[in-house]
Amino acid sequence: MGEVSRFWRESVHRYRLMGNQCGNCKRIFFPPRDVCPICHRESIGKMKDYTLSGNGTIESFSVVHDVPPAFTRQRPYIIAIIRLDDGPSVTGQIVDSDPGEVEMGKRVTSVFRRVAQEGESGIIEYGYKFVLA
Ligand SMILES: [Zn+2]
Repeated sequence: MGEVSRFWRESVHRYRLMGNQCGNCKRIFFPPRDVCPICHRESIGKMKDYTLSGNGTIESFSVVHDVPPAFTRQRPYIIAIIRLDDGPSVTGQIVDSDPGEVEMGKRVTSVFRRVAQEGESGIIEYGYKFVLA
């Protein structure tokens, strides 16, 4: 039980969208910043980890048909700018949807998916992607 639950906790932590928050102005950043770009020196030593909800709204998107060979299984590739409910906007791939289903203003939520089937090292890489909510 101990080993399994510890592994699970570590995995969950790793696969969350981790950003950080400025302790001075409370703005949230993703990816995390070392220093708040608004507060500069005032934020030094005050940047705290912040787990984003992963929920957001599509601000814009484009459908990429001409994808690199490594991604042909994901064709067409839908890439979107998503405004997260927590504040920051991120660029991410939208998966599990036809391009016709994707619209500006639609709600999405983050998921973690395998990014690389097999690297040179055999290590499986995961990354965040988005699905329609
Ligand atoms: Zn700040």
